[in-house]
Amino acid sequence: MTTIQALRGTRDILPDETPLWQWVEATARDLLQRAAYREIRPPMIEQTNLFERGIGEATDVVGKEMYTFEDRGGRSITIRPEITAGLVRAVNEHKLTAQGSVLRLWHVGPAFRYERPQAGRQRQFHQLDVELVGSRDPRADAEVIAVATTLLQTLGLKSLTMDLNSVGNSDDRQRYRDALVAFLTPFKAELDDDSQKRLQTNPLRILDSKNARTQEIVQTAPNLLDFLSADSQKHFDQVQQYLTDLDINYRLNPRLVRGLDYYTHTAFEIQSADLGAQATVCGGGRYDGLMSQLGGPDTPAIGWAIGLERLTLLLKQLAVEPSTAMDVYIVSRGEATAGKALQVAQALRLEGLAVEMELRGDAFKKQFKRADRSGAALCITLGDAEAEQGTVQLKWLTSGEQSEVSQTSLTQATAELVQKVRQVQQAT
Ligand code: ATP
Ligand code: MG
Repeated sequence: MTTIQALRGTRDILPDETPLWQWVEATARDLLQRAAYREIRPPMIEQTNLFERGIGEATDVVGKEMYTFEDRGGRSITIRPEITAGLVRAVNEHKLTAQGSVLRLWHVGPAFRYERPQAGRQRQFHQLDVELVGSRDPRADAEVIAVATTLLQTLGLKSLTMDLNSVGNSDDRQRYRDALVAFLTPFKAELDDDSQKRLQTNPLRILDSKNARTQEIVQTAPNLLDFLSADSQKHFDQVQQYLTDLDINYRLNPRLVRGLDYYTHTAFEIQSADLGAQATVCGGGRYDGLMSQLGGPDTPAIGWAIGLERLTLLLKQLAVEPSTAMDVYIVSRGEATAGKALQVAQALRLEGLAVEMELRGDAFKKQFKRADRSGAALCITLGDAEAEQGTVQLKWLTSGEQSEVSQTSLTQATAELVQKVRQVQQAT
């Protein structure tokens, strides 16, 4: 029989990798909590028209990447290709900004796109998504960008660059769109196939075509920043001023338009040169039109998503390895010791220690080797002799210091033991 394998474009995150993921998630959770963002957990499946209306039918995501199916009741369902649209739907459905309040939200979880799998590009991938809903203030733009850069910095990533642009409001964009189409039409035959189609459906997307000839042509195209209204320009100037005040480096990129239709004003991407072709770790921007497009009240918002596969790839390159060491390793051999070893393990875990217990009745020597490899501070040994005398052997693995104590003193005087374990772990 052929063995069943994971689907193309999906991947098991194995136990050796999860410590890194958990550390990233815990660091993010901690930082977001300190910045007043609260977690929201929307469903992973939604009505297909949420994405059609929200992201736009002319985008790659909706046009060719969605996992859409009909459920048994005949409804068209889509497994989310991104997180923002679902969050905005939830905010509107539960009227979370009804009193005109500012809402700071985050969510982490998988998203699904039918793409060509390659390094840093999968069909099931994970996003950390952050949204600030209910403010038009340019400080909101600067805040969410700063949250992203602070997180990446806290994780130890340094050589990142940020591209920044403004795509203006919908009027600005319409005027720019007309100018761009007028400029590109004489070159139509020279554009790549996708860009030729986009000339009608989504001309701004031609600006970030990867095709070399198309790139050459758009180099001399009209500049989006020349089409901003006075208000849009003012907003953008203020955002830039705040970023400068925060020492956040960026480079203006008038060809940055992002893949999804709902963006207005600020758009940004954070890249790493160490990721090859899939260089963008974080993408985001302002989307003042999305809520009303989904049938809600006119509500401004700005947010971003970090791709966790790309982020963890970078951290692996930096050889970041969060510790998963045990505090205590229990070695035991002999029938009389089995129940006692379980009790000791339970008592110490209740005190907050990380405890691993041997289940194989191997020779002590083999068990001690595994104890050494576990990174534990303390090895507790129970053999037949100890079972008979009601004692255990303690061995501090870094210093080699050994002692014998009674089982009752071990489980009763645990506070002292915990303190000593912590001291040893901190010193190493
Ligand atoms: P790209 O240009 O790389 O296709 P995108 O503009 O489609 O990215 P967004 O929709 O902005 O990406 O998603 C935000 C982030 O999610 C990206 O910057 C990236 O880190 C990550 N991401 C998007 N698609 C994938 C994917 N198929 N596999 C892994 N990560 C992804
Ligand atoms: Mg994409």
